Amino acid sequence: MTNLKESCIVVFSGGQDSTTCLLWALKKFKEIYVITFNYRQRHQVEIESAKKIISILKSKENHSIEWLTDNSIKEHKIIDISFLSEISKSAMIQETEIIYNEETNLPSTFVPGRNILFLTIVAAYAYQKKIHYLVTGVCQEDYSGYPDCRDTTIKSIQASLQLGMEFDFIIHTPLMWKSKARTIKLMEKLGGLELYKYTHTCYKGERPACGECFACELRLKGFKEAGIKDPLEYKSL
Ligand SMILES: [Zn+2]
Repeated sequence: MTNLKESCIVVFSGGQDSTTCLLWALKKFKEIYVITFNYRQRHQVEIESAKKIISILKSKENHSIEWLTDNSIKEHKIIDISFLSEISKSAMIQETEIIYNEETNLPSTFVPGRNILFLTIVAAYAYQKKIHYLVTGVCQEDYSGYPDCRDTTIKSIQASLQLGMEFDFIIHTPLMWKSKARTIKLMEKLGGLELYKYTHTCYKGERPACGECFACELRLKGFKEAGIKDPLEYKSL
């Protein structure tokens, strides 16, 4: 983690993966700009989690991450792209059951175009601020088959953004080849496990988390594999 660069922008959802990425970015870069998207995701609790985590990271009094300085996060922007809900039938946005679509080989939680849109908006903002580095928590290793989380997709988006804006964007994906357990281990190494207490994962949107839905199960499996206790509160455990 040497080679400290100046500034970067982090795509931050308030979930486990993007919180790990945010801390990774804070370790690697001097100034951090954070963007959270409101696309009328089915659980607004995600946005509340994002705000809470940022407020914790901004003051040494609220956490025990020794290396983190108070003024590293320069801005947290919440960008409204609620029009996405008008054109998407995803179970991530609407209150529908998760089903596996045999035609597309994808779960109904897939939001078409989401990551492409996110990165395009973030890059447009980064361009204005002359920031070259973008960070996103997409992951090919432990994913649900989402095509916009693949390494080749991200590399292709990076090339399009560089060409389309004539600016050298570098998209960092520190979790691309990490299992959930290895992501948790990375967070342990960064000293930020305590932040997981505030991250949102539960598919039912419950707090304390239900502990039974597929998202909670996947999360708990990762912690079990990593041999680390999840600091999040659960109803059923
Ligand atoms: Zn749950």
